[in-house]
Amino acid sequence: MLPPDITADFTALLGAERVLTAPEDLALYASDETPKAVTPEAVVFPTRHEEVVEIVRLANRHHLPLTPRAAGSGNVGGALPTPGSMVVGFECMRRVIEFDPDNRLIVVEPGVVTDEIDRLAHAHGLMYAPDPGSGAYCRIGGNLAMNAAGPRCVKYGATRDHVLALRAVLGDGREIRTGARTTKYATGYDLTRLLVGSEGTLALITEATLRLVPAPERIANLRVCYVSNRAACAAVARVMRQPVVPSALEFMDRRSIEAIREYGGAEGLPAATQAVLMVAADGDHDDVPRQIERIAAALEGEGLLEIQSGFTPEEMTRLWTARKSLSHAVKKIAPLKINEDVVVPVMRLGDLVEAIDRMGERHRIPLVAFGHAGNGNLHVNLMVHPDDAEEMARARACRRELVETVLRLGGSLSGEHGIGSEKRQFVGLELDAPTLGLMRELKRLFDPDGILNPGKKLPD
Ligand SMILES: Cc1cc2nc3c(=O)[nH]c(=O)nc-3n(C[C@H](O)[C@H](O)[C@H](O)COP(=O)(O)OP(=O)(O)OC[C@H]3O[C@@H](n4cnc5c(N)ncnc54)[C@H](O)[C@@H]3O)c2cc1C
Repeated sequence: MLPPDITADFTALLGAERVLTAPEDLALYASDETPKAVTPEAVVFPTRHEEVVEIVRLANRHHLPLTPRAAGSGNVGGALPTPGSMVVGFECMRRVIEFDPDNRLIVVEPGVVTDEIDRLAHAHGLMYAPDPGSGAYCRIGGNLAMNAAGPRCVKYGATRDHVLALRAVLGDGREIRTGARTTKYATGYDLTRLLVGSEGTLALITEATLRLVPAPERIANLRVCYVSNRAACAAVARVMRQPVVPSALEFMDRRSIEAIREYGGAEGLPAATQAVLMVAADGDHDDVPRQIERIAAALEGEGLLEIQSGFTPEEMTRLWTARKSLSHAVKKIAPLKINEDVVVPVMRLGDLVEAIDRMGERHRIPLVAFGHAGNGNLHVNLMVHPDDAEEMARARACRRELVETVLRLGGSLSGEHGIGSEKRQFVGLELDAPTLGLMRELKRLFDPDGILNPGKKLPD
């Protein structure tokens, strides 16, 4: 609980209804999607930029750490309250400040739900390209802080590639504006790219100018079944070597297919299927069939069992059934899913999948791997029983081996979920000392008293 004098300061600024201190209210903001909880000292809800500035200044005066929070759907503990901190919830800052379809941009506050931006854009023939699976409820502030991505990012790029400008508040209350409203920009340092993905540790983002792109006239899908992980990964490599870039290239490994079968969601998959690719193409109405033909040709090869195409919404929904049942199916394997989000150069995906198979067997941990194969980005889920200490020890060893393997293959710890509190322990394996040192200096420059989301992103 905050001391009464500090609570009184925030109440004077925001009004009592936007300062929560009751234990039952605080409990609602004690966790994100990480299976952990830390009760914050208080939760405050700004409604505009100027209030964020005042909150940060007051927090500085009282040496009070702040945990920024958008929708709390992050799965690395980014919005998990730092012990002793106050949550700054951005859910009341959800205005679309400006929509300029002619210049293909939109200016939004951080609390706007991601899919709402895409829906608004679509009504004008445009699209907000980044499409995280959580888009129906996550907020753009969280996406900006994590550099979120989704299936479409193989063709269109991640959140960072769609941000033109930001308005933000630094850790000492200074206000900055980065970038410009233009798609070309070469003035000063590129602070926009620095703040995107900074996980609320450098600044609180209060406004974002986002780039929109023309919405495709048509989308078509392929579901492609293979006899092995190796055959599917070889097909991914062939697709990514040829010139037609798919608008999605998703992979499900042997363990994913087993889980889907046990769950009863594998209807229509050939019996010998051990791995599946879900592929999409989008573009002009007449061009999509040509793209599908070119991509299908690349998908053909050793170990292919079946290619099914879907051009109508009904056909596409049918093809995606198995993929949609995956998250429910996985939950049947074990009660806890430790979700890794590793990424390797796309030509090394086959090596990674083979290594995952071997390490799962060696550590006796069920590893279910699926994800955005076109980017080399796999969600590797370690399925465990949290009460089984011996199994949890094996899972820890397996996790470390996974990270070391990914780094050996030239990859990185996280493709899209970020580092938060849960992956900090591995950051020093990927970044060398001078680079980490520079990042710590940047943190001090942006947040001199270290009050913005301490204990996240960088190791101590
Ligand atoms: C079912 C499911 C599917 C998912 N699928 C995907 C996916 O396909 N792709 C993907 O990338 N992720 C995915 N995620 C993870 C998660 O949805 C993303 O990380 C998302 O970007 C988090 O958004 P949020 O609004 O929930 O943010 P939160 O979890 O509330 O916060 C995320 C981070 O942003 C910081 N933050 C929030 N607001 C601000 C602000 N205004 N200024 C500065 N920092 C701020 C927080 O401190 C935290 O570090 C998925 C999660 C779930 C549960």
